[in-house]
Amino acid sequence: MQPNVISKIYIDGEFVTPHGTELFDLYNPATGQVIGQVQLADQVDAEAAIAAAKRALPAWSATSREERIDALRRLHDAAAARLEDLREAVGIEYGGPVRNRYLVDSTAGAFADMIKTLETFEFTRQVGNAVVEMAPIGVSGLIMPWNSDAFFIADKLATALAAGCTAVIKPSEMSATQTQVLTEALHAAGLPKGVFNIVTGRGDVVGTTINRHPDIAKISFTGSTEVGKIIMREASDTLKSLTLELGGKSPSIILDDANLEEAVSGALGSGFVNSGQACVAGTRILVQENQLDDVLALITKKVEADHPVGDPRDPATAIGPMVSQRQWERVQSYIQRGVDEGARIVVGGPGRPEGLPDGYYVRPTVFADVTNDMTIAREEIFGPVLSVITYRDENHAVEIANDTTYGLHAYVFSSDPARARRIASRLEAGRVSVNGGFEQLSPFGGFKQSGLGREYGSFGLEGFLEPRSVML
Ligand code: NAD
Repeated sequence: MQPNVISKIYIDGEFVTPHGTELFDLYNPATGQVIGQVQLADQVDAEAAIAAAKRALPAWSATSREERIDALRRLHDAAAARLEDLREAVGIEYGGPVRNRYLVDSTAGAFADMIKTLETFEFTRQVGNAVVEMAPIGVSGLIMPWNSDAFFIADKLATALAAGCTAVIKPSEMSATQTQVLTEALHAAGLPKGVFNIVTGRGDVVGTTINRHPDIAKISFTGSTEVGKIIMREASDTLKSLTLELGGKSPSIILDDANLEEAVSGALGSGFVNSGQACVAGTRILVQENQLDDVLALITKKVEADHPVGDPRDPATAIGPMVSQRQWERVQSYIQRGVDEGARIVVGGPGRPEGLPDGYYVRPTVFADVTNDMTIAREEIFGPVLSVITYRDENHAVEIANDTTYGLHAYVFSSDPARARRIASRLEAGRVSVNGGFEQLSPFGGFKQSGLGREYGSFGLEGFLEPRSVML
């Protein structure tokens, strides 16, 4: 891929030059080199995008289920046709290792999943003598982070369109290359003008315009808890509906009856997912105190064997670079903080991994002797830095797991499914995975400060609908 300037945004079915003139540098995190620039949209562009989505709303909200399924199918095919280009963009733009690009691979799948949901979704329900119609909520603002831009655009857009809503999409300014590839793909699907609009710009410019605009009825946001709170405040004047998918500090509970080899592999896999830059990362590994030495020995062995850090293009690499210099510094500061607060480094540590002097690489790091009140156990680091915390018994494990302001995800490992299920039911988390269990269509979202509302499947679709009771 050649260094380039991305100088178009997508409004009303066309690629247009933004009114905004600011140029933002794009980096390859594997080298630290600038690979291009993006011309950012401004408030005028955001307002034009909102106006286009508003014009498109009456016709789109009147489409039938079949018409929406047909559109989603075309979007699916168009995204699938550009998968290789998307994978390349993800590698070059945020260092996602080739071995671990499942989210970008799921981009087209997000449209297919929503077709499945739409096929059986009940838009009309009977409550006593009322007919409840599930009506599209209106023009929706979709705002996403850099850590899996293409998938989040596809997922949120698929859901909004399935509901009969039109959309203004604000991707992260750091993901412009992926956004460009995906926008070209979505354009090729030939949907009516204005049904979706894509304006890459700064959060405090384009994002704020969306947050405050009276013609935006709903915002679906994925990103940090800090920005989620700003959105909630700014959207309150116009009382928008909000779906907020925010940060996490998820526990991986290894119960004492678990197969330790498998549980440690599972806990490290969830902790280091997406090079540790994942909201769902299991960053607190909870271990029964008399199994600590065995678990730490397994962790040491498996981090070195199974989670090599390196060039994202190398199929052997499990952990790529951090997305930016800023993120690299942030991760380093947390590693130092862990040392300063008295935690013990078991694997990794501060500085760069051996043999990787350039780029934003960090050493996958695991701390022991961590207590749940330490900063590294409380704050989202968003890098491959894990904390091992011991518990006395089952109740203590649940208490530690829930002692966090977050509640996005949890992982339980046990050889006794009934016991794992019992523990899962006590966890304050939107999703609990038992021994690696997964279901894409199940609701996804957080308890507490991990967010509001749910995404995916029918729960996600309901977030873009308003029930209207017609009483006969
Ligand atoms: P971020 O919150 O800094 O930015 C996310 C998006 O919000 C970007 O597009 C940004 O430009 C925009 N933004 C910034 N200020 C805004 C404002 N005032 N109004 C509107 N939009 C604004 O997050 P990030 O660094 O891009 O991504 C990492 C964060 O995202 C982590 O905290 C992670 O946990 C979270 N995340 C959550 C999920 C989830 O589903 N729960 C998934 C992935 C990432």
